[in-house]
Formats: sequence, C-alpha cells, structure tokens
Amino acid sequence: MTTQEIKEKLSDEDVRKLLLEMGADFYYEDDDMWITNTICHHGTKPKLYYHKDSKLFHCYTECGQMDIFDVVMGYKGYEQEEFQKAINWICIKLNIDNCEYGFGKQEQISDWEFIRKYKKNSRKEIETKSLVPYDKNILNIFQKMYTKDWVTEGISIETMEKYNVLYSTWQQKIIIPHFDINNQLIGVRGRSLVDEDIELFGKYTPFKVGRRFYNHSLGQNLFGLNHNMKTIQRKRKIMLVEAEKSVFQTDTMFGDDNFTVALCGSNLTDYQKSMLLMLGVREVIVALDKQYQTLDSDECKKWAKHIKDKIINKLSSYFLVSVIWDTSDMLEYKDSPTDKGKDVLLKLMENKIYVGTND
Ligand SMILES: [Zn+2]
Repeated sequence: MTTQEIKEKLSDEDVRKLLLEMGADFYYEDDDMWITNTICHHGTKPKLYYHKDSKLFHCYTECGQMDIFDVVMGYKGYEQEEFQKAINWICIKLNIDNCEYGFGKQEQISDWEFIRKYKKNSRKEIETKSLVPYDKNILNIFQKMYTKDWVTEGISIETMEKYNVLYSTWQQKIIIPHFDINNQLIGVRGRSLVDEDIELFGKYTPFKVGRRFYNHSLGQNLFGLNHNMKTIQRKRKIMLVEAEKSVFQTDTMFGDDNFTVALCGSNLTDYQKSMLLMLGVREVIVALDKQYQTLDSDECKKWAKHIKDKIINKLSSYFLVSVIWDTSDMLEYKDSPTDKGKDVLLKLMENKIYVGTND
C-alpha cells in the first residue's frame, strides 16, 4: 500500500479526527473545504485550508501546499527522514492496522529504501496533480481600478496593467490573477482592504466565486515567470520573493530587466525546484520577508533555519545560492526586501550572503 492509497482511504471524518487530535479549531466549513488554525507550524491564525476534493491542505502563513502527512510532520516537528513516524502516528490515531501496511515493524522502519519509496510516491502525487486552467472570463467580473496604496508602495499603474491586477468592488479586494508560463489562468488571489478580514484571515486569501475556489495551484507555479522568463534565462539568475507584490515592485523598478518571481509562500515546493532546474539558471537569490525584529533574536535564528531547511538545502547542490539578509537594519519588521525602494534593494543585493553547498 502506498501513501497515496492510505490518503485515499482516509475519509473526511478521519481527517477531521486527526486535525482535532492536533488541537485544530474549525473556523469555517462548507461542503468543499474547511479552514482551521495553522497547526502545521503551531500557528494561531485560521489560515490552514483543507480541500476535500483534492485532499490537499494549504497553509497561507508559511508552509504552502501539503498533504495530511506533511501537516502531521509539521505538527510533530518531524524531519523529512522521519516520514514513517507520521504514518505510524496516523495509523495509531485511526486504529489502522499499521503492521498490515508494513509501517509498524522495527526492522522496516530502519529500512530507508523502503521509506524513501513511500516518500517518493507521496511527493510525485502532489507534483503531477494536473493543473486545470481556469476560464479567463472569470476576470471580466472585476474592475480595472488601481489602489493608491500600491502606487505609494512603489507599484506603477503600468505594472498593475501588465500583470492584470484588478479590483473587486463588492468584496473590497485587490484581485491578483496567477498565470503559468503558458499564460493560462491557474489561480486567483485576493488581497483584502478590509481591516476585519485581514485580522481574521490574513492579507491574502484564495479567491472564491460561488462554490469554486481559485487557488489550487499556487505552489505549482513561479509567479511572474510568464513575464520574466527571458530575462531570467539571459541573466542566468533568478530572485525568489514571497509575495506577488514584490514581483510588482521589482517590475516597476527594473521593467524588462526584472528577474524576480514569487513563491507565494515561504517554502519551495518540489515543483518549483524542478522549474528552476528547467530554466538553466546559475544563481538563485533568496529574498524572503524579514521575519525577525533583531538579528540576535531566537525569532531570527528560527527564520534562518526555516529558510535553510525549506529552500537553501533543496537548491545548494544545483545552484549558486545567495540570501538577502538585512544586517544593517534597512528594512522594518515583516518588510520584503523590495518594500523600501530600489536603492535599498540594490544595497541589500550588494551585501547578499553566499551560502555553501549542502554537505
Ligand atoms: Zn503552516
């Protein structure tokens, strides 16, 4: 039995039971999805979405797309190599006879090849889940209106037009369409301008029209690549940022010379990694938000470890990897390296830190 088969065997109620075991609070439920607090990284905000049809989770704070095994691993703090522990935990909680599947016996737990096979199956399933492009006509319901806030924050109207940024007057949200490399519409995100919504659900939320969510494939794309691929391939380098907004800001700064794409999270998915390999770049610059107040804080150490584990270690065997790290306090807390304008970004890039290979 593969992890995929185990996952398919889990009913929604099984998944609910596991989430409750992990202390989840259910903030929202309908026929298609649930929203709970982000137990995947012991967060408190209701930003962990579960989609019943795909059986996939999405943590909009930091973890990105996950399956139930990833959620358990995050909650229990298991490393990638301890994948089988998550399977065991699930089997015990749901009274699934784990010996039957070969996960329970000690000699099999220590058999790494055996475990790897399961890991691979699980990853492959996420990667190859086919993207269904959405009908671009959905965008016609929105208005071509551009918020002054974003202009103030260094995003030109030209950039917003280029990226098809729109506005929903009825939801009071900035609408950000996500296109893949072939300019197919693969997702839509809304950025709320209503304070209560931001408080409850965070700044960015997946966009819902009727019962349909337009958010399934954010981790299966590099936002902005449809516009910036030529420059990336010409320069043989790419800069990874967290959010769409940073791609817009760098577009306004550099125009056709922009080599920035957004991960739409702070994790690099295997899919995104394979896209980087395909692009043939030599250097990857990691430019995530400044998720720490001071350089000597535990928060800073934790953030550095996160970036190392979730991004750098996945890349350092293939690319020259550098990180933008705000050592001279030019950015504010939670700022993106692009938030303080071109001069600051260029200074940060000048002082980027090259990180060694992964061994
Ligand atoms: Zn999370």
